[in-house]
Amino acid sequence: MARAIELATETKGTNPADTPIAALVVRDGKLVASGVNQTAECCDATAHAEIVALRAAGKAAGEMRIEGATLYSTLQPCGMCTMASIWAGISRVVYGAGRDDVHSMYFEDRHLSTLDFIVDAYKQNLTLTGGVRADECAPLYFRPWDDVPEKMQAND
Ligand SMILES: [Zn+2]
Repeated sequence: MARAIELATETKGTNPADTPIAALVVRDGKLVASGVNQTAECCDATAHAEIVALRAAGKAAGEMRIEGATLYSTLQPCGMCTMASIWAGISRVVYGAGRDDVHSMYFEDRHLSTLDFIVDAYKQNLTLTGGVRADECAPLYFRPWDDVPEKMQAND
């Protein structure tokens, strides 16, 4: 997670407006690929850090499934990224700041959580660990109490 935080802040700074979200795919203790959020840069709503990392990991692995890998993300993956992790065969998802640590703008649904997707997935061996270095990750994002202009809220 320390490496993910480093990647997020080195690449995108520490201003929440610049979406410093980073993700890493690690397998057998080795970094397979990484990514940072590029939604604004690429004009692509799917360019979340986790998706960027999973795409790069698939290319690096030479196959779409990266079985046995762990996905680390500085922010709890959204529904899209959680599903992508399931499709990619990820075995473990580890995230920093959780849903309750950040503004609701980071999630597309009021009630559906990463946990629900994982519990319901056709996959028995996918584990989820949240809150890792959350105190370092959360300040990178808008907090629940921040008054974020509607225009800046991706889920508006
Ligand atoms: Zn996402």
